[in-house]
Amino acid sequence: MVIDQTMSDFDQMQYQAKTVSELTIIIQAKKIPNALLFYGNENTGRKEAAFLFAKGCNCLKGTGLACNNCKSCRKIDAKSHPDILCINHLKGKKIISISQIREMGLAISSKPNEAKFRMVLILNADLMNRQAQNALLKMLEEPPEKTFFVLIANKISYLVPTIISRCRKIRFKPLTDKLIEQCLINEFKVDKQMAAIASKTADSDLKKALMYLNLNQNDETKDVDWIKRRKWLLNALVSIIKTDTNNCISKGLMLSQKLSFDPDLIDDAIAIMKTFFRDLMIFKLHPQKIVNLDFFDAFTDISQMVETKKHSVWIKDLYETEKRLASNCTLRLTLDKFFLKIVTNRGKLIYD
Ligand SMILES: [Zn+2]
Repeated sequence: MVIDQTMSDFDQMQYQAKTVSELTIIIQAKKIPNALLFYGNENTGRKEAAFLFAKGCNCLKGTGLACNNCKSCRKIDAKSHPDILCINHLKGKKIISISQIREMGLAISSKPNEAKFRMVLILNADLMNRQAQNALLKMLEEPPEKTFFVLIANKISYLVPTIISRCRKIRFKPLTDKLIEQCLINEFKVDKQMAAIASKTADSDLKKALMYLNLNQNDETKDVDWIKRRKWLLNALVSIIKTDTNNCISKGLMLSQKLSFDPDLIDDAIAIMKTFFRDLMIFKLHPQKIVNLDFFDAFTDISQMVETKKHSVWIKDLYETEKRLASNCTLRLTLDKFFLKIVTNRGKLIYD
C-alpha cells in the first residue's frame, strides 16, 4: 500500500474501502451532490479520492468507475482537463482568500468546456477565511450548472455550519499506526525499531512517517535529515531534564532559540517531543511500550531522577504550547515559556 497521486483506480485505495464504495455508489446512482466534504486526517487519500471521483463521473465508458483509457480519464490523470479546478492557499499564505473564491466563481460562470460534471476541488477548505466562506456559500446556494464542489478539510469546525449542512459529508478514517508500520517494513524495508518509532511519531500519517525516515522524495523538507534531527532533539530534552537547576534553564532557552530558527519545522518537532513525554509517562508501568526505544537508558535514568507525577504535568504543558502556537502566539516566547516550565515543574532532582 503506497499512497501516491499517480494511483489511478479505486481498487488501490482498499485502506478506505468503505468510503470508496460509498463514492462508487453515488456515481453509479447518477445523483452527484452539489458539494461533498471529504474530512479526516492529512494523507488519508482524500485528494486522490476526489480525482478518482471526478474521473468516475466523467469517464466516457460510463460505468461509474474510471476506465483510465478514455480521453476524459487521461486528461484528468495528466492534470490537463479544463473542467477540473483546484484551489489551495497560495504559497506562504495561511488562508484562502475571497479573491481566490471570486476568481473561481468567474471561471465557473459559463458552462463546462467538455466535462459531464465539472469539479471544483478546494484543498485545505478550512483555511478559507470568513469572507471567502461566505462567497463560496452563495455559490453552493445557487450551484452552477453541471458542477460539483469537493471540499477537503482537516478541521470541519472551522467551516461555517451553513456550508457544512450543504455538503454530503464523507469521512476518511485515519490509517492505524500498525498499518503504517507494516507498510514501512514491507514496502520500504525499514528496520522494525525505526518503523515503530516513525509510525507512532507520525500520528497516523504515512507521508509524515516517510518524511521522518527521509524516504519521501516529493517532500518539501527533503533537505532536513529527520533521523538526525530527532536524535538531536531528544538528546537535548534529556540533557535539559538531567542537568542541575543552575544550568538547565540556559539549556532550555538555548533549545528554544534553536527550534525557533526553523518555524516551518516546529509542528514536527512538537510531534517528536510528544512521543518523548508520552514515553516518560508510561515508562514506569510499561517500559516495553515506549515509542523511542533507542532512548531506553535515558528514560530509565529520568524516571529514577524525577517524580512520576511531574511527567503528566509536562505533557499537559506541551499540549498547551501546541495550542498557543496554533493560535499564532509568538514562537520564541511560547517555546521559552514551555522550556522554563519544564525546568520549574521538574522539582528537585532526586540526586540533588
Ligand atoms: Zn474513462
